Amino acid sequence: MKIAVLHFVHETVTFLSNETTLDDFIYEGSPAKGEALLSIDPKSYMGGFVKAAREHSDVELVGIESPLQPKTGIGSGWITTEAFEHFLGKMVDELRSQGPFDGVYLALHGAMGVTGVPRPEAEIARRVRIAVGKLTFIAATFDPHGNEDEAFLASADLAFTVKYYPHYDAYLQGTRAARNLIRCIRDDFTPTHASRKVPLISATVLQWTGGSAWMSLINRALTWEAREPDVYVNVFFGFPWSDVPDAGMFVQVTTNGNPTLASAIVDDMSHAIWRHKDTLLTSTKIVSVSDAVAEAASACLRGAFPVVIADHSDRSGYATWVLDQIIQQALSDTIIAAVADADVLDALQEKQLATGDEIEIEVGGRVDPSAGQPLTVRGTLVTVPKLHAKDAGKLPFVTIRFAHNNLLVISRYLVQVMEPSELAQFGVDVDAYKVFAIKSRVHFRRGFDDSGFAKTIIITEPDEAFLGTTRLDGLEYANVNLSSFYPYGKDITL
Ligand SMILES: [Zn+2]
Repeated sequence: MKIAVLHFVHETVTFLSNETTLDDFIYEGSPAKGEALLSIDPKSYMGGFVKAAREHSDVELVGIESPLQPKTGIGSGWITTEAFEHFLGKMVDELRSQGPFDGVYLALHGAMGVTGVPRPEAEIARRVRIAVGKLTFIAATFDPHGNEDEAFLASADLAFTVKYYPHYDAYLQGTRAARNLIRCIRDDFTPTHASRKVPLISATVLQWTGGSAWMSLINRALTWEAREPDVYVNVFFGFPWSDVPDAGMFVQVTTNGNPTLASAIVDDMSHAIWRHKDTLLTSTKIVSVSDAVAEAASACLRGAFPVVIADHSDRSGYATWVLDQIIQQALSDTIIAAVADADVLDALQEKQLATGDEIEIEVGGRVDPSAGQPLTVRGTLVTVPKLHAKDAGKLPFVTIRFAHNNLLVISRYLVQVMEPSELAQFGVDVDAYKVFAIKSRVHFRRGFDDSGFAKTIIITEPDEAFLGTTRLDGLEYANVNLSSFYPYGKDITL
């Protein structure tokens, strides 16, 4: 059994002005092929797929040369047509030259935005299908933030989407893709699908599956998978920061040759979403930045700390809204991780400032309206790290102590802190602080909430309808008609 393995992943924020270019996908280690490709992310989709596939001694995996995540991470806009065509063209050529294959595994995300290609993942499946022929089975894994519709499974056979946010089950979905792809090849599984668009669109911060109605929705999908053999239920939550025609929620069900059951489950899941549409949009409470800082102060007074203030909306890393209120309200014992500002770091590096130096800086803001104004901070440099090879000669961060036991981390790029232990990289003693002002939407729940670490969690965003806030009506969509989605349009029906 010979199975080709491909990887092409990006969560594209098409509203960012910097394109994702060919060059962004090319760096040491990327593109990757062969065993190097198969060994990326051992605890995620790829690791699960490879582990489960190799439990079968008669399976040969062929890692086709594939780009890894671009250097820009999730901080870049439209992927250029050139980059997409370059990599997909090479993959398809390699599939032809190394084939025939019994199966193909596509490690995807689902929220790729490519200039001139309305449904990139479906286009990948379509071209792979042409290359490998009708008899080869194609399986894929997806992130729940994918924007998908019927088009993908029109060319592919199997899709497995992560259910939880934070994304705890990526490895599990990888194993499912492998096992069921192999079962298809052995004629033990006949994938039969049903799917349905659900006209609901939401900001990702609202999609935390640790609280209901999202938790009950996921539980409903898991219940279907438990009560019926060979049923797989995918719920795409959607990624509203990709301006693509298949945005919004989408339910996809696969059964083993039972179209009636697939349709019944799709109907059940879609109606459940629709019945709970209001709670889905309101189960995460978002407060203004001034209220967030005031609530943090009162939580400290009554002993309900550690407190997390999560600014979920910052897409550049430069936003200063929370820092501004921390200064104005004189909040103490707070770590701010982080405000990005490459210029400040370059200036400190040029002046060769060191630990213990008193400094006054203008930090953050500027890059776009969503980042707010730069702020003046006076304090003492605490950590000025030694440079490593990966820093390419540039200071990656510094920390500054100011006011009453506050510590500000200034970083070069947007930093999303997901676990308290990650703060050690900035030389931070976690026990010395009561409030953790971080930039994360939901992923921080892994280490700060689900772990039991924080006693109070406050999610905040600026009042204006900036990119990244829950106010999707502040975005200028060209390919999404917001008025055809709940809660933006009138009289929307399922
Ligand atoms: Zn995601």
